[in-house]
Amino acid sequence: MAPAGASGGSKYDVIVIGGGPAGYVGAIRAAQNGLRVACIDAWQGRDGAPAFGGTCLNAGCIPSKALLESSELFHRAGHEFASHGIRVGSPELDLAAMQARKAAIVRQFTGGIQGLFKSNGVTGLFGRGHLLPGNKVRYTPHGGEPELLEADHVVLATGSTPIELPFARFDGEAIIDSWGALELTAVPARLGVIGAGVIGLELGSVWQRLGAQVTVLEALDRFLAMADGQIAKDAQRQFKKQGLDIRLGAKVTAAERGPAGVAVTYEDDRGRHTLEVDRLIVAVGRRPETRDLLDPLAGVQLSDRGFIEVDSDCRTSAPNVWAVGDVVRGPMLAHKGSEEGVMVADLIAGRLGHVNYAVIPSVIYTTPEIAWVGQTEEQLKEARVAYKAGTFNFAASGRAKAMEQAAGLVKVLADATTDQVLGVHIVGPMAGELIGEAVVAMEFEASAEDLQRVIHAHPTLTEALHEAALSVDRRALHAINH
Ligand code: NAD
Repeated sequence: MAPAGASGGSKYDVIVIGGGPAGYVGAIRAAQNGLRVACIDAWQGRDGAPAFGGTCLNAGCIPSKALLESSELFHRAGHEFASHGIRVGSPELDLAAMQARKAAIVRQFTGGIQGLFKSNGVTGLFGRGHLLPGNKVRYTPHGGEPELLEADHVVLATGSTPIELPFARFDGEAIIDSWGALELTAVPARLGVIGAGVIGLELGSVWQRLGAQVTVLEALDRFLAMADGQIAKDAQRQFKKQGLDIRLGAKVTAAERGPAGVAVTYEDDRGRHTLEVDRLIVAVGRRPETRDLLDPLAGVQLSDRGFIEVDSDCRTSAPNVWAVGDVVRGPMLAHKGSEEGVMVADLIAGRLGHVNYAVIPSVIYTTPEIAWVGQTEEQLKEARVAYKAGTFNFAASGRAKAMEQAAGLVKVLADATTDQVLGVHIVGPMAGELIGEAVVAMEFEASAEDLQRVIHAHPTLTEALHEAALSVDRRALHAINH
C-alpha cells in the first residue's frame, strides 16, 4: 500500500513515530498548525497489511466496541425481546458475519486516517522509526532499505503492548492476548480470563453473551480497585447475576496446554485449584512499547518501569524530543493520548497547550457500562477531604425502565465546604455517554448546585445525574433522601 499524504524530501518540522490515537492526532494538529509533518507507523495486520490507528483502531477500542454491540444485541434478542412483546425464537449466531462487520468498521476507520493525513498534508510512512542522536530518525519501510530523516522536533508515540506472563506465554491459539480474543472464529465452550481489569471484563462479556462459560481470575481481593467502591460493588453484583464467574483473590501461577485446552492453576486463601478451559485470555495489563526505538545516545531517559520519562508538557530528557500516549506515565487511554498529542503539537507551534490530568474520564464498556471522572469516595477519605455524596438509582429513571436497563446508579461527590464537584461515578445504561456532562462540569469547576440548576430533558438518562446532584444536598425529587 502506498504511503498516505504528499511525500517528498527527508527534512520535516515534526516527525511523529507511532500512528495510534496519540500520534496520528498529534500529527494532524501539527499540520493544522502549518508545520511540515511525517508520521511513521509500524503496525501490520495478521495478513501483513500496514495500517495507521495503532492498537485502538486495529486491535482495541474500535473492534472491541463493534463486538460488544453485536454480542449485546444477540444476547438481548435471546433474553430481552420477549419482555417487550417481541417473539424471535432462539437467535442464531453467525460469528463469521459478526467478525466481518467488525473488520469492515476497522478498515473504514484506519483508511479514514489516511484520508485525514492526505487532506491535512501529513506524510504517512509505513515502517519502523528509530530515534538517532540530534533529532535524526532512521526510517525503515516494511521490506525496504533504511533511510535517514531529519526534523526540528520528534514526537514518540509508540504505545503499549500486552504484558505476557512467563508461565502463560501467548501461543496465538489457546493462550491469547486481547487482540487474539477479538479474532476468535468460534465461541469457546469454556473461556478463562486472567485479570478482571478493563480488558478482561469487556472481552469476557463479549464471549459470555455469545454463549461461552466465562471464568475470570483476579489476583486482587477487591473488584475493580481503581473504581469507586460502591460503584464497583454494584457492578460486581450485576455481573454475577449475568453469570460471569469472577473469582477474586485468585493468583494464577501456571497455565499448561493439554489436548483438551489449558489447565490453569491458581491459588487463593482456600488453597491451590485447577481450572480447565478451552481458551485462556491473558489480560494483566500493558507495558510501554520502546523496543528498537531509541539509540542509547539519543538522550531519552526511561523510568525503571520502562516508560519514557516526560515532564507535565510531555518533554523528554532530549531537547526537542517529546513523548505522548501509553508510552508515558498516566492512564493508558486513547483520549488521554490524543489530548497529549494535541498539546505537544500546539506547544511546538508556539501556541498554548495543556492537558488537565485531574479530569480524564474512564469508561468500561460492559453492560452495564461503568464510567467515572475525578476522585472516588475512597480517595477523598484517604486525602481527608470533607465531602458530600449524593446518589440516584436508575431504578427510578423512566427512560432506563423503558430501555429495560433500570439497574445501577449515579453518584456525585462534592466538596463539603465549597460544593465543587470532585468526582462523578456511574454504573448503568450509557454511562460512557452520561459521563461527558460530568467532565464538562468538572472542567468548568462546577458546583453540585450548578448541576442541580441545569435543566435536564425529560425523560432522559441524564436526569439520573441531575437527581444525584440534588441528592448531594438531600433534595432529590424522585427518591427518598436519607
Ligand atoms: P488492567 O491493569 O486494567 O487489569 C489487569 C488486572 O490483572 C489487574 O486487576 C491485576 O490485578 C490482574 N492480574 C495481574 N496479574 C495477575 C495474575 N497473575 N493472576 C490474576 N490476576 C492478575 O489491565 P488490562 O485490562 O489488561 O488493560 C490494559 C490497559 O488498557 C489498561 O490501562 C486499560 O485502562 C486500557 N484499556 C482501556 C479500555 C477502556 O478505556 N475501555 C479498554 C481496554 C483497555
